[in-house]
Amino acid sequence: MERKTRVRFAPSPTGPLHIGGVRTALYNYIFAKQQGGDIILRIEDTDSNRFVPGAEEYINQALKWLGISFDEGVKEGGKYGPYRQSERRGIYREYVDRLLEAGKAYIAFDTPEELEAARQNIPNFQYDSKTRGTMRNSLTMPKEDVDKLIADGAQYVVRFKVEPDREVVVDDLIRGEVKVNSNILDDKVLYKSADALPTYHLANIVDDHLMEITHVIRGEEWLPSAPLHVLLYEAFGWKDTMPRFVHLPLLLKPVGNGKLSKRDGDKLGFPVFLLEWKDPKTGEISSGYREKGYLPEAVVNFLALLGWNPGDDTEMMSIEDLIRKFSFEHCSKSGAKFDYKKGIWFNHEYIGKADNERLAKLLEPTLEANGVKVEEGASGKDNRYSPEYVAKAIELVKGRADLVPDLWTQGDFFFKAPQEYAEKDVKKRWSADTPRIMEELIGVLEGIDDMTSANAEKIVLDWIAEKGYHLGNVMNAFRLAVVGACRGPHMFDITELMPKEEVITRIRRAIEKIPAPEN
Ligand code: GLU
Repeated sequence: MERKTRVRFAPSPTGPLHIGGVRTALYNYIFAKQQGGDIILRIEDTDSNRFVPGAEEYINQALKWLGISFDEGVKEGGKYGPYRQSERRGIYREYVDRLLEAGKAYIAFDTPEELEAARQNIPNFQYDSKTRGTMRNSLTMPKEDVDKLIADGAQYVVRFKVEPDREVVVDDLIRGEVKVNSNILDDKVLYKSADALPTYHLANIVDDHLMEITHVIRGEEWLPSAPLHVLLYEAFGWKDTMPRFVHLPLLLKPVGNGKLSKRDGDKLGFPVFLLEWKDPKTGEISSGYREKGYLPEAVVNFLALLGWNPGDDTEMMSIEDLIRKFSFEHCSKSGAKFDYKKGIWFNHEYIGKADNERLAKLLEPTLEANGVKVEEGASGKDNRYSPEYVAKAIELVKGRADLVPDLWTQGDFFFKAPQEYAEKDVKKRWSADTPRIMEELIGVLEGIDDMTSANAEKIVLDWIAEKGYHLGNVMNAFRLAVVGACRGPHMFDITELMPKEEVITRIRRAIEKIPAPEN
């Protein structure tokens, strides 16, 4: 019988979720949705030494922001729970015992010092079929001694007994058959008595089996563990229901060679985390895509294309498009360069398409930081503006924004009169007769009842033509007075939105403040 597709995202709460992990979660999500399957969030917290407080909640928040939801998990619940490995101790012990009873695992007492000594004495030491006979374990010691040591409270680990000279085949949906000889594998520790917890390998396999996972989609860094996992499935007699493996290509540095790291982000100025993260130990703050002003759909689109392509050169894809088009055949084996500039490009495109009201909400913190309050019904007095005004201003500048805060730098003049005037524009556009012409312009504007863009434009341009003024000079001086520099959207779109009195006040102030050059 066809099994229902079930995938899992299985992060360890050891810190904020790195962008590579985010892509893994995204591919799992896309694949599950495409297959009409389930996606599970499993928290792999068996390594208590690496546990970081707040990391699990961070992971929840970050994926929620991106729009990834789970069918089962710590918060969602589900019939395969608990979904936190630290709450599944009892379950794992039973499976450790099964392997011990079947002779597929053994108990080892070697202390860290003894292991270190072996490493010193034996070149390229690896705990395996060649060396295990020389170590202190249940294969070399009489059963009574083993039992006594355990009864006396000695600490031990359980190791997997890897059979030598076997060809282990990992059948990967991206990489095809990856074959390794079992001789290169060591007898991995599956369980530690010290904290009564399994290691990653055992917990991972047991949970994937019990949770009826059909596809293990994860980063390439886990490929070296896959042969051991295949052997574990075999040892438990679960080969028939072993999940398909999918190891995603590495994310590489934007420049140079090697794996993408947080340092690359710090150096080049892009975040490697979805949300801002404050390190609970050092207090260090790392920037996040959300706080920098990226839209989640842009991040989704950008990440989806790091390691996969739709088979043509389509770039803009919604999550629905991605779910429709995704396939492992179009995933690459080789690493994907983290082209963060492409991420900015995507964000620019998505800001251009985004709803103005939504952008207005996202811009609010930036507005507030600049002393601008958004209030229903406000008229612009005392730096208070209505949501409609903010949305309209955004409509006029959003084509020029890469990140949400750029909406402010591009459109600040809608909210604040210029405090100074760009020097080089003044030099070029403000001549001796400009003040007089601007006075005239005030008169023209005062006479216009309907400030709609096209209407005001016609009246002003007719006046310029009639007087024989230089169109560029007049319009740029006008702009300089209202905006503070020769930048911004169409002048008459600006003056349609801004209250006419404000426009006139600004021209008056410019006449006063900009020293007119001698002719
Ligand atoms: N806990 C592992 C991690 O942190 C999971 C690896 C896997 O998906 O098997 O990435």
